[in-house]
Parts: sequence; C-alpha cells; structure tokens
Amino acid sequence: MAVLPAASVTEQKAPPPAEVGIAIAGGGLGGLALAVGLLERGFDVHVFEAAQELRTGSGTIIGITANANTALDGLKPGLERAVREEGSVSKEWLSYRLQDGKEVEKKNIKMGITVIRWQSVQNVLAKLVPPERVHCGHRLSAYEAVQDGVDVTFDLVGSSGEHHYTHRNEQAACGQRTVRAKLLVGADGIRSAVRRIMAGDAPRYVHHLNWNAVVPTEFIPGLEKDTLHRTEDDVTGLITFKADAGHGWSFWQVRVRDTDGRLADALGPKWGGLGKPGAKQRALEHLEGLGKAYNAVRSAIESTAEADIFERRLMANGPIDTWLDADSRVVLLGDAAHAMHPGPGEGARQAFEDAHQLCLALVAQGPRALERGAVRRALQRYELLRKHRCETVQAMALEGSGLPPEETVPPEIRGFTREQRVDRFMEFASWLRTYPNNPVGDPNSRFFKPPAGLQRLVEELG
Ligand SMILES: Cc1cc2nc3c(=O)[nH]c(=O)nc-3n(C[C@H](O)[C@H](O)[C@H](O)COP(=O)(O)OP(=O)(O)OC[C@H]3O[C@@H](n4cnc5c(N)ncnc54)[C@H](O)[C@@H]3O)c2cc1C
Repeated sequence: MAVLPAASVTEQKAPPPAEVGIAIAGGGLGGLALAVGLLERGFDVHVFEAAQELRTGSGTIIGITANANTALDGLKPGLERAVREEGSVSKEWLSYRLQDGKEVEKKNIKMGITVIRWQSVQNVLAKLVPPERVHCGHRLSAYEAVQDGVDVTFDLVGSSGEHHYTHRNEQAACGQRTVRAKLLVGADGIRSAVRRIMAGDAPRYVHHLNWNAVVPTEFIPGLEKDTLHRTEDDVTGLITFKADAGHGWSFWQVRVRDTDGRLADALGPKWGGLGKPGAKQRALEHLEGLGKAYNAVRSAIESTAEADIFERRLMANGPIDTWLDADSRVVLLGDAAHAMHPGPGEGARQAFEDAHQLCLALVAQGPRALERGAVRRALQRYELLRKHRCETVQAMALEGSGLPPEETVPPEIRGFTREQRVDRFMEFASWLRTYPNNPVGDPNSRFFKPPAGLQRLVEELG
C-alpha cells in the first residue's frame, strides 16, 4: 500500500496562474478529495476557496462507511487508512427508540463505521494538496464559456473580522481575479454560487433544527470508547447523538422537529453557525424536564463553551435537470450537486463517491481528457453514474426530515409498518455498500432497482 506523503496547506499568498487545467471552486471535503484524486492521476488542478483559510470549525463528525472507504482508496491508495487512523472505528452503534422519553427498544446496528471529526478528515485531505495549488480568499462570483474552456471570476475576499456565523458569501470583496480553466468543478457546498448561476434554485429548510459540538470525551459522562449512541423519540420527534470520534474527542448532537417552522422563525433569517449567542440555552431548553435517557447529552451541553456549539437549521436542495453547464465545461459535485438532510449520514460519503467517479471518468478519456469532445464525454459519464444515485439518496434522506410525510414518503410506502420501513432502509444501506457496483440501483433489491433505461446506458459504458 502506498504511503501518504506529508505536506501542509497554508494560505497561499502568490496569485494563481492565469490558466489552469481544472479549477475546483470550494476547498471542503468534496473539493479537496477531488483534488487529491486528480493530482494522483497527473492533472493540473487548483482549488479556489472563498474562506481565508481552509475551514476547520463545524463542530461536526463524519461517519464513514464501506462506500466512502472504497471511494477514498480509489482516489488515492492508503487514503481510507489515513482517515481511519484519525477517528474511531465503532464497535457498537446503539440505537434507542423512545416514547415520551421512555425507552421502548434498543438495537445494536451491526455496521462498521469510522467516526471522525470533520476537521480531521479535512486535515488529512488538505495535507495531500500542495499549498501552491490552494488559493484561499477566492470566492467564485461568475463564469463564462469561452473557446475551449471557461473563464472563472473570483471575488478576492479579505478578512472581515466578523463573527464566525457571518457566512463567507456575505463578506465584502476587495478585488476580482479571472482564471481560465479547461474544466470548472463547482464543489462550493450547499450555498453553491456555481449552482446558483447554473440552475438559479436555492436550498430549502427541511424543518429540523440542529445543535452539535465536538468536545473532549470527558464532557460526555459514561461514553465508552468506540461507541455511537442515537436516540429517537416517536412522540416528540427529538433525536440525540453521542459518539466517540477518536483521539480523546467526542460528539454530541440534538435535533428538534420544527413542523410549523416557528422555531426557525424565532432565530431570524440567518442560517446559524458556530457560537451564536444564546445557542447553548436554546439547545438545553429542548431537553428540559426530560428523563435520564438525556442526562449525558444534557451534561455535555452544559460543559461545552457556547463558542463551540454549532446551531443550524437543516437545509437541502432538490433535483435539477442537469449538473453540467457552459458547453460541458462546468460540473457540480458534493453538496453543490445534492445537499441532503444529514439523517443517513451520506452527504460527505456521496461527495467522495462523486470525486472518485469524476476522476475515473476523466481518466477513461485518455491523455487528452480536457479537450472539448473528451471532457463532454467524461462529464456525461459522470452524470449518468452519479445523478440518479444521489437523487435516490437525497429522497431517502428527506423522508427522515421534519417535513410532513405526505411531501416526502412515496404513497406506496406510507402504510408500511415500522418493521417494513426498517427493512426498506436496511436494503437501501446494503445497496449503497455495494459501491462501485450497481451505480443506478441494485437489481436484487425490492425497492432500489435500477430504472431499465439507465441500466442499459450503464451497461453500454462497459
Ligand atoms: C449536522 C450534520 C451532520 C453531518 N453528518 C455527516 C455524516 O455523518 N456523514 C457524511 O457523509 N456527511 C455528513 N454531513 C454532510 C457533510 O458534512 C457534507 O455533505 C459535506 O461536507 C459536503 O462536502 P462539500 O465539499 O460538497 O461541501 P463543503 O464541505 O460545505 O465545502 C464547500 C466549500 O466551498 C466553499 N465555498 C462556498 N462558496 C464558495 C464560493 N463562491 N467560491 C469558492 N468557495 C466557496 C466553502 O467555504 C467550503 O469550504 C453532515 C452535515 C451536517 C450539517
């Protein structure tokens, strides 16, 4: 197995070249994973990140399962191991079902999962991208197709000195720079500027409010090493998590259903962020007067500094006609393409699959992959293998959101018993684990069969 080289990414002061092979907008998990995979395959790739430095604070963990492990190792041999070593491989994933705070069922979900701080995954990836290829303070604001490429315009974003919860999209620009690329990848997250230009839509609130933080393990009383605990209350809809994230770090989370949107309205128009004043008290209010099932999470919140609490309304975007634009010189990846409710924990995993498949699609076109016809074929292949799969995952994720079931659950599923719903979800998870096989559906499943037309196209690819 190849050994991963050590390097470091810091803010790059030298300006980027005027022309690059592949420009990636967004230095998050998806953009960096793609950069790692493309560099491994010899492409000229540069990452343009709006923030002053690669983002390190989200108070979040990522749960990495088999599909993402396969994608990571496909991007660069040894990457799965490098990530795993920074996290905790859960030996127990305990799921508690409650009714009005009383435990009615406890299950051990036997599924290997690496739980790791979001920040640690980001750091592992960032170390593999040479600093001269990462350009922070570059916020994409426009792109335009030109002969054999795309001109990409970035606002140069200075340090605003504003609070963490001021989104980088709102910070003032102090100049502009245009870079010509053969291919632009919009990996600029849920509020993607690339997607806004391409499709003009915006993500919507999916009626869950979420508080989370990554804290020293001693903040969560009784949490055992390498365990993950989830509670869900059938009656109140309250969901909590506590999990070991490895190396002395752990994670807590509280998620509240907000059916009529009143809780979110009370927070004002901002999406939330890290260290919002009053966030700690708001999280605690939802656990007030509840039983011992919540003692550890309540105690963890009390121990956490407000500055470390991430408060957000959960957002998702929906399907769009195509992920390609500008004569097939622009393509979406990760949350920009398919931001989803985090219930099944598939957001980053699907971004890693995207990155892996985009690398393979470009390589399949040979050494002239960035020439007009070749890049179009590569992107069409990528879209065929990714779009239907991601939309299926998005739809499943939305079923677990705070939106009413009439809006999210297919009519033929609505009358299912709890056991039938669980079976269906397990079939969904099994399908995802077969990655990279069965890209558009599992012929052996009952609920996730590939649509015949798409399956034929995939078979024609060989
Ligand atoms: C509470 C919660 C829990 C989650 N748990 C899991 C989990 O267990 N497992 C899992 O797989 N996923 C999980 N996710 C989802 C996961 O975090 C995201 O899906 C993943 O980070 C998406 O990666 P990305 O690169 O597409 O976007 P991001 O990581 O958001 O990166 C986008 C980057 O683009 C930058 N940017 C934005 N605008 C511009 C611009 N105009 N120009 C240049 N750069 C720009 C941003 O600063 C950012 O660095 C969770 C999400 C949430 C909210």
